Amino acid sequence: MAQILDGKRVRDEILEELKPRIAGLARKPGLVVVLVGNDPASEVYVGSKVRTCAELGMVSEKITPPATITTAELLQIVEEINARPEIDGILVQMPLPKQIDTQRVLDAIAPEKDVDGFHPTNVGNLSIGRPGPKPCTPSGVMELLKRAQIPVSGKHAVVVGRSDIVGKPMAMLLLHANATVTVCHSRTADLAGECRRADILVGAIGRPAMLTREYMKPGAVLIDVGINRLDSRGAVIRIFGESSEKTAAFDKRGSVLVGDMHPYDAAELGSAWTPVPGGVGPLTIAMLMVNTVEAAERRQA
Ligand code: NDP
Repeated sequence: MAQILDGKRVRDEILEELKPRIAGLARKPGLVVVLVGNDPASEVYVGSKVRTCAELGMVSEKITPPATITTAELLQIVEEINARPEIDGILVQMPLPKQIDTQRVLDAIAPEKDVDGFHPTNVGNLSIGRPGPKPCTPSGVMELLKRAQIPVSGKHAVVVGRSDIVGKPMAMLLLHANATVTVCHSRTADLAGECRRADILVGAIGRPAMLTREYMKPGAVLIDVGINRLDSRGAVIRIFGESSEKTAAFDKRGSVLVGDMHPYDAAELGSAWTPVPGGVGPLTIAMLMVNTVEAAERRQA
């Protein structure tokens, strides 16, 4: 049975370590989260970001423009936050409504306040190994590996998914940690074959339980970034069967969260694996807090 990599425990450790750093600053770090419209999932994410800031004694503010806002109006809001000296971090919650030019908005955030690490300047800094904010989910995965003392150097890592927010920065961080990295995507010719060569397999696809045992080398470290909500009983049964814990959980709650890896196969074949929920997920907010504190430290140095 694989060792479970407990993201909640690592999140708590990371947050605890931030407290003395925050206390040591002349001014409390400040984060502004911009939440456009009222998408329920985004509201939940933003709520926990604001709550975590409060728990750490950081200043946070939520700005909630209506879903009908224009790109020009949103750019103006970002410019105003850029100009506020007491604010160290700006996060514009994704996704934005269709009429908004998302790239222009992300480009408008001052790179030194870009706590998501999505600004082209910070993407460049990551690529050439300079200091700066790193995208939260992949840097959370690196923390999880480091704290579980899982060796990365010299290992073959396979990342499935090449998005700008997860797959590509994940590959870059693993490369900087001296892994030999393969990046796979929807056009990869022999996905299962590539995945079976992985000592460390990262799934960041958005396809529930797609990576089954055929994709896993026995003894591999299995990192499941995917978060997929299943709200049809048929889909749950197709993946897990009639008498499974997941089906029972679905019958109780009407939906279940599933990663990109088949959890039963991962638990059986891996040497270590991240459950969904409770694995990678909790680290994303922790790393956002790290990025905000580091932005404050850099700006107050
Ligand atoms: P995107 O949709 O932006 O990217 C998905 C990637 O998966 C693409 O590169 C795509 O390939 C690839 N892909 C899709 N289908 C297949 C397939 N059948 N075979 C091989 N590759 C495939 O997703 P994100 O990167 O934003 O997110 C990925 C997952 O991670 C989602 O489940 C998301 O919910 C989750 N997530 C979790 C977070 C956390 O905190 N734990 C944070 C962010 C995301 P191509 O480029 O060729 O289209």
